[in-house]
Amino acid sequence: MQYRSDKYGTPLSVLGFGCMRFTKKGNALDLEKAEREIIAAFEAGVNYFDTAYIYPGSEVLLGTVVSRNGIREKIHIATKLPQYMISSLSGVEKIFTEELSRLQTDYVDYYLMHHLTDAAQWERLKKVGILDWIAEKKRSGAIRNIGFSYHGNTENFLKILADDTWDFCQIQYNYLDETAQAGRVGLQAAAARGLPVVIMEPLRGGKLVNGLPQDAVKAFSESSRGWSPAEWGLRWLYDQPEVTVVLSGMNSLEMVAENVHTACEAESGCLSKEDFALLDRVKAFIHAGEKVGCTGCRYCMPCPRGVDIPGIFRCWNTMYTESKSAGRMQFAQTVGLTKAPAFATQCIGCGKCEQHCPQSLPIREKLKEADKALRPLPYKIGINAVRAFMFRGTRKPSSVR
Ligand code: SF4
Ligand code: SF4
Repeated sequence: MQYRSDKYGTPLSVLGFGCMRFTKKGNALDLEKAEREIIAAFEAGVNYFDTAYIYPGSEVLLGTVVSRNGIREKIHIATKLPQYMISSLSGVEKIFTEELSRLQTDYVDYYLMHHLTDAAQWERLKKVGILDWIAEKKRSGAIRNIGFSYHGNTENFLKILADDTWDFCQIQYNYLDETAQAGRVGLQAAAARGLPVVIMEPLRGGKLVNGLPQDAVKAFSESSRGWSPAEWGLRWLYDQPEVTVVLSGMNSLEMVAENVHTACEAESGCLSKEDFALLDRVKAFIHAGEKVGCTGCRYCMPCPRGVDIPGIFRCWNTMYTESKSAGRMQFAQTVGLTKAPAFATQCIGCGKCEQHCPQSLPIREKLKEADKALRPLPYKIGINAVRAFMFRGTRKPSSVR
């Protein structure tokens, strides 16, 4: 196994075990099967295990396996506070205490504010008093590192990152999401601040393995490298020295063995010019099914009305390259749930963006089409309701048409 350091020099295995996809047996998780997978990974050198309060049964399962195998001191546990459920410090304490009990431990190595999508959510937590709570937990040793997991846009990521609180962060990142969410810009900004970055969705929830178009599969299989699509996705990440741990939700011994093999071999700078060229071809095959040829270059930004043009186009494309629901979910996370609304309906048609688009896209017209597809009426109502809940206690978010 290879290791990269956290903020304080602790070695973390470059492969982390994502504990959100264990196999089910009936209505519960299959403890014995998951235990074999966890222990196989541990014996291969994996020392970072990531769970969350809201992954059903996951904290209890991990706590049971760690405790009955006596490996607590040999691994690092990361778990998360469902920050969107929090309205008081007593609520934070209650959830944290429950998490310790589920995990059968008295400390958490890496504790994350779960699923931030906007800087306003972090500001809301600070108003609740979370900074004092974190300071006390770090003083007592109950929390060793504090971080956040993130799904919003790059601008908000950079705002949250600017806080001195953080010891690490966790982002969605893979070769298709290089300009989405925190993106490469966010990854490099975090690394520049000395923060380790944990990667989630390295294979886009399996899309970069099982959801590839035939041409992409063929391109990989014809390469003399002999790497599987999963290995290509992981190697693209390990190639970047700013990446610290790559999480994989492993639920078979074969998957553990394959990922461990890649994590033992792939070093930063491991990809050649030819490898990047092949990945560019694969991305082109994936993008071929898209609705709009937006490259995410952001030359059209900022829009004076706050419209997130590349964000909207990316989600619209996802509806066609993955599924309607995947595109709409991505839209809710990265555009719909930012405090300052960034919807296409805010466009006043000034045309400024089109003057800067290297692809000469008819942005105004395409935004209208995208909005119709991404926000049918029930979604509009749903997103507005979630916005009202998420931004409660902050200055009222502007209304959204
Ligand atoms: S045309 Fe619309 S989207 Fe483009 S810059 Fe003007 S307001 Fe923004
Ligand atoms: S300038 Fe054009 S291609 Fe670039 S992000 Fe904006 S719409 Fe997309």
